[in-house]
Amino acid sequence: MNPEIRVRFAPSPTGYLHVGSLRTALYNFLYARRNSGKFILRIEDTDQSRFVEGAVENLISTMQAVGLEYEEGPYFQSQRTEIYQDYARQLIEKGAAYHCFCTPEELEIRRQEQIERGEDGKYDGRCLLLSREEAAHRLQQGDAYVIRLRVPREGEIIFHDLVREKVVFPWDMVDDQVLIKSDGYPTYHLANVVDDHLMQITHVIRGEEWLSSVPKHLLLYQQLGWHPPKMAHLPLLLNPDKSKLSKRQGDVAVEDFLKKGILPETLINFVALLGWHPAGDREIFSLPELVNAFSLKRISKAGAVFDQDKLKWMNGQYLRNLNLNIIAERAKVFFQEKGYPINDHEKYLKLIDFGRQRVSLLSEMPVELKTFFLPPEFGAEDRLILQQEKSRRLLELWADKLNSARQITAEEITTLLQESSQLLEIRGKDLYSPLRLALWGSCHGPDLSLLIDILGREESVNRLQKALRGGKE
Ligand code: GLU
Repeated sequence: MNPEIRVRFAPSPTGYLHVGSLRTALYNFLYARRNSGKFILRIEDTDQSRFVEGAVENLISTMQAVGLEYEEGPYFQSQRTEIYQDYARQLIEKGAAYHCFCTPEELEIRRQEQIERGEDGKYDGRCLLLSREEAAHRLQQGDAYVIRLRVPREGEIIFHDLVREKVVFPWDMVDDQVLIKSDGYPTYHLANVVDDHLMQITHVIRGEEWLSSVPKHLLLYQQLGWHPPKMAHLPLLLNPDKSKLSKRQGDVAVEDFLKKGILPETLINFVALLGWHPAGDREIFSLPELVNAFSLKRISKAGAVFDQDKLKWMNGQYLRNLNLNIIAERAKVFFQEKGYPINDHEKYLKLIDFGRQRVSLLSEMPVELKTFFLPPEFGAEDRLILQQEKSRRLLELWADKLNSARQITAEEITTLLQESSQLLEIRGKDLYSPLRLALWGSCHGPDLSLLIDILGREESVNRLQKALRGGKE
């Protein structure tokens, strides 16, 4: 039997969830679910200088909001430093890593010199020449140090990536990577490899920007005597002009997309298609459908364009097709933000059902539906229409009829339209425009019976009368 599939999402919390990180999390989640495996959350927070208050809580709540549940974790690397230090010691003992006492200032001067000579700004290996005794002496003196990985100077490393296939890196491109920093915390590389091993990760699925770290990681696995997991590096995310996707939070934060009124369902569906293609040309997939369809084999090498227009289009599809109650529930907060009261749930549902045909973001809903909450204002052109003799007679007739009607059904509205048409000898635009203007503030708008139904009799009559007064209260 194959061992259980175990994958992880290993973010370094920055305070917000980048859409690229959401894709990494999603593909790991899908792969785990597809293969009845485990999806693990590991917080890679060993860089103390990047600590952001509340970042982890925010990350977890955003994952919950889009439905990415994990089976294990969160593990925190900042709570596991002793484990990494132990392994760093083992590496030193076998000569696979060494203490380096060069100060940041010395390193910077040497780096500048290397660049002037046209060389790569890599560590020159100076402390590798220290004897064990010298190193021990300096440690005893309390000199500050880091621990570096000893990387071969020649030859190349070849490995297989599930997406990139055969990958070759010459060792002279690889630096003697710092494994433990002078504050005693591990770097990403050491902690990542140790944890992937200890947490029995079978597949590492992450962004392409980590591909160049693989040689160091494989060297660590080898030196620690461990078997490396399989790797899959996901294609870069690009702007429509093919430049690398921005890191500006406002453009790429999952939280901000949700706040604008992109539905979680849309975001998941959209992000799933950034670099993975299902068989066939279907584009709309729910999360369970994605689980069924997902495979690492269908991930492409080519960069994936993040097209915000397509995201909005897809959100429009979800707004129109998801269950009305769900949309209504999700839209509530946007009405509350504007201070628009929702008193009658049934009418609110009708309102949302009307609005969802016309917007592509939930946040556009109260803007589109504003006239249901605030009486219309009229401009000069509107007044010209409203003050025509026939319009006035029409509005008076309607105010009167609505006022005295016991209840107003769609049939009664149809009858009233026919009656007014005959009585006043008007039809088409002359009939509909003044009514819509009075009730809705524009000659184009919802079906009159829907409009009157949602506004209610009293408000409809008020609006007709206000229009008769030329818009004055
Ligand atoms: N901590 C890394 C990040 O922030 C994890 C990369 C990996 O998955 O190995 O993305």
